Amino acid sequence: MTNQPELTQEELERYARHLALPSFGLKAQHRLKRSSVLCIGAGGLGSPTTMYLAAAGVGRIGIVDPDTVDASNIQRQLLHGTSDISRKKTQSAKDTLNAINPNVQIELHEERFDPGNAIALSRSYDLLVDGSDNFPTRYLSNDVAVLLGIPNVHGSIFRFEGQVSVFAPHLGAPCYRCLFPDAPNQGAVPD
Ligand SMILES: [Zn+2]
Repeated sequence: MTNQPELTQEELERYARHLALPSFGLKAQHRLKRSSVLCIGAGGLGSPTTMYLAAAGVGRIGIVDPDTVDASNIQRQLLHGTSDISRKKTQSAKDTLNAINPNVQIELHEERFDPGNAIALSRSYDLLVDGSDNFPTRYLSNDVAVLLGIPNVHGSIFRFEGQVSVFAPHLGAPCYRCLFPDAPNQGAVPD
């Protein structure tokens, strides 16, 4: 990296509270701008995650999701509103994120995250966010993060409970598969 990315006057105002934060400041804001995150899923977990990442000034956000917005999504999937019903979730997400912060580059991957495309999709990002709702994708995002040597942020919810973890296998820490070596049999636990 030769030069720090310049922040425009608009960005200096936008991120004023970050810049005033001791031990954060301009240096960390530049780092955020240079950073990229791939979020798997634009649903209940992907919505708040990508909205906060965009608001905070992460430079490049990728979203993988093959689905369209359903009326039953809107109660929790804040990226999407009533007028987005039947639209592609990726498109709806892009509109919302660009409305929050037009400085962020949003990259849409309108496909399912699967063993055939997972490495290629993830390769150009610094970090994975697993906002998926099923075990095969969860293990896949873990394995891709291990192979590429990048962190994987995992979240899941069930009814009134939730879990969130940051897995950092590139630092020698255990991965999701170390913690849960065997995926449950299909149908044994809820998605
Ligand atoms: Zn492991």
